[in-house]
Amino acid sequence: MKSPAFEYVRAESVADAMSAYAEADGDAVYLSGGHSVVPSLALRLQAPALLIDLSNIAALSGISLHDGWLRIGAMTRHVQALKDPLIAAHAPLFTAAAPFVAHPAIRNRGTLGGSLAHADPASEFPAAAVAMRAELEIASSQGIRRVPADDFFVDIYETAIEPGEVLQAIHVPSPVAGQVIGFDEIARRRGDYAMVGAAVQAVSRGSGLEDVSIALFSVGNHPVRARKAQAALTGRMIDADAIADAQAALEDDLDPPDDPQFPASMRLHLARVLLGRVLANLEAVA
Ligand SMILES: Cc1cc2nc3c(=O)[nH]c(=O)nc-3n(C[C@H](O)[C@H](O)[C@H](O)COP(=O)(O)OP(=O)(O)OC[C@H]3O[C@@H](n4cnc5c(N)ncnc54)[C@H](O)[C@@H]3O)c2cc1C
Repeated sequence: MKSPAFEYVRAESVADAMSAYAEADGDAVYLSGGHSVVPSLALRLQAPALLIDLSNIAALSGISLHDGWLRIGAMTRHVQALKDPLIAAHAPLFTAAAPFVAHPAIRNRGTLGGSLAHADPASEFPAAAVAMRAELEIASSQGIRRVPADDFFVDIYETAIEPGEVLQAIHVPSPVAGQVIGFDEIARRRGDYAMVGAAVQAVSRGSGLEDVSIALFSVGNHPVRARKAQAALTGRMIDADAIADAQAALEDDLDPPDDPQFPASMRLHLARVLLGRVLANLEAVA
């Protein structure tokens, strides 16, 4: 199928983009990498009158360090998450997640901002953002606000971005001494969306793990913070007992969807297996 006809405009600034959206009375869609928007047009899942291209806006690009936070412009491509040394050093879960996202052709065009704004519950980068306790910089006609990733993902394909607002950047707090991370997923084929995925970050001290942060994906309508599993690991060294307790805690943390192809009990089982695998292979990043 071909997409319905639409107008196209390339915005030169965030203000430009927002006023084009307002002039179209909201019958418009922002376009960044286009790898979710364009298929949805071709499948006629949506038919906006106007596509507003964000790719030329300077405020949405660039990767820079400020006061212990890495600012990653929303237009940063998936492939940069894989290769950029600043992202690898200061937002390492994005680097760990990137090889699992689709295939090279898609990673060359798809953007981090587009992935987070799209908020597919099976996507890798949203869970990595939650686990890293990232904050999302959103521009509106009222100004700019920062929303913690925990509050950003509201529901399936729904975020804290209101109609017409623009996600400008992702801010990630830099790793502290002793920080460890782990990321993995179970998918039918490499590059497919995950059946279950896990992003984990913690600080490893002589006395055990601190600041444990676990986000699971493809287990609900958005990335799910596994609070009981986090508590089960806090203050403990990683060993078989600690891992078993965290796996058991997922029973309370998760309420996965049930469908005949993929029953909830199977998803919970896979989440436990995957979390055990990730916890047994945590890597030091600072
Ligand atoms: C074959 C295939 C396989 C894929 N596999 C995976 C996978 O395994 N894992 C995965 O995570 N993704 C996968 N994707 C999706 C891909 O990663 C997309 O690129 C990504 O989800 C969206 O990023 P984008 O830059 O292409 O955004 P676009 O498609 O341009 O936009 C996505 C949505 O976000 C909105 N938007 C974009 N940027 C902004 C912004 N700055 N502010 C406000 N709203 C904005 C758009 O209006 C749109 O609603 C796959 C895609 C394809 C085609």
